[in-house]
Amino acid sequence: MATGELNIPSTVKDPHYRYKMPKIQTATQGSGNGIKTNWVNLPEVSNALKVPLEYPIKFIARELGSNTETKSNSFLINGSQDVEKMQELLDKFIKKYVLCPKCHLPEIHGKIRVEKKGEIKCTCRSCGATCELDNTHNFAAYIRSYPPPYEKEERITKEATEKSSSHTKGKIDKKLIKSIKECCLNLSSVIKDDAPMEKNVEEINNFIGKYNFNLDCKFYCFSFGVFPDEIYTQKFLNRLPLIKHFIENESENKPEEALYNLIIGFQDKIFSRQKGEKKQYVSSVLYYLYDKDILKEDFWLKYLSGNIQEKYNSMFRIEEGEKKLKEAAKDFSDWIENGPYEGEEENKEQEKEDKNDIKEETKESTKEEKDEEDTEEKGKKKGKKKKGKKKKDKEKEEKDNEKKKEVKEETKEEKKEEGNDENKEENKEEKKEEKKEEKKEEKKEEEINIDDI
Ligand SMILES: [Zn+2]
Repeated sequence: MATGELNIPSTVKDPHYRYKMPKIQTATQGSGNGIKTNWVNLPEVSNALKVPLEYPIKFIARELGSNTETKSNSFLINGSQDVEKMQELLDKFIKKYVLCPKCHLPEIHGKIRVEKKGEIKCTCRSCGATCELDNTHNFAAYIRSYPPPYEKEERITKEATEKSSSHTKGKIDKKLIKSIKECCLNLSSVIKDDAPMEKNVEEINNFIGKYNFNLDCKFYCFSFGVFPDEIYTQKFLNRLPLIKHFIENESENKPEEALYNLIIGFQDKIFSRQKGEKKQYVSSVLYYLYDKDILKEDFWLKYLSGNIQEKYNSMFRIEEGEKKLKEAAKDFSDWIENGPYEGEEENKEQEKEDKNDIKEETKESTKEEKDEEDTEEKGKKKGKKKKGKKKKDKEKEEKDNEKKKEVKEETKEEKKEEGNDENKEENKEEKKEEKKEEKKEEKKEEEINIDDI
């Protein structure tokens, strides 16, 4: 067995076993109360197990009774964790949620589903058995909130394009529908995630260029290709600069119209799955688009009120899907709509303390994480808005953004998991306040910027 490789699970001792995963690699960050364990190769491990990116870390954190934080390039568990212990818990995760309960092979990926009553079941690709997975472990609640992808991409895309073309019949001719379908189905294979962005831009432009589409069609197809099948993953985060580039630079000076079609494409991709099973990611995805300055507050408010739809009259608009998207985006919309709020100082102080704890060790990595272009852009913007703005302030802003994002995600997750809790209302109130708190900081930052123009 090659060094650094283990069988799935590692308790299988056959050196020629065909199912392998990398050994867990970790690094410790910080010290004292703020000490955290960074799971350096989580993406590789999740990939080998064919599970959504955060499943293994969320499972292990639950077992350890610890919390996790996900940033664009690091996956943190609070506390200094023993890697051997983590490996042991990973095996436990594998036995419960990666292996077929009958033949014990890791062949249930893509075949795990959450039934109406919340039962998690799988069908094995190898032995064909349909079995129940562990529904009693507290990780089962996480799976119910964030179910793994169930179908193959090809089928989803086909469904979605058929749906969209059936809704737009009469508006566009058959030949065009055929071209759009073809483009949607093949665009994702044009994007190479390990290639530099310029290369992808060139390839995408060459590919879509062949169809001689108008802006609507171009961006609709682009959205299909650019949002990965498993929408809310590292892959999506890595593609944010590409999305930003297309909206800003490849939209024939119509970024708003392009963005509208991007949202429609996203909507169709999200709801093309059976029963909209990906809708729990809508707010998170929108938040990332917002965070990267792709989706603007102003745009979203106009979208909610229907102004954008009236203005651009896209042939891909499906009102039913739009309604569903708006419902699924409620968290995000609430957050956008909530204005400045006078919150409790206590919370703010606590948040500040938390921030300071991780500020030191993440200062450098936060900067690296930022996409080069993004940083450059932000730098430029800030330079224009406020000359000589102190480096420290800038870092604090970045920190705030990170924090906000994390809290936002945690809030969402907790909310989901507490779905049946009697204290739901109470919790909701708390979350709302937290959100308002974040919003307030955001507003402050904006005000400063606007004043300085
Ligand atoms: Zn089996």
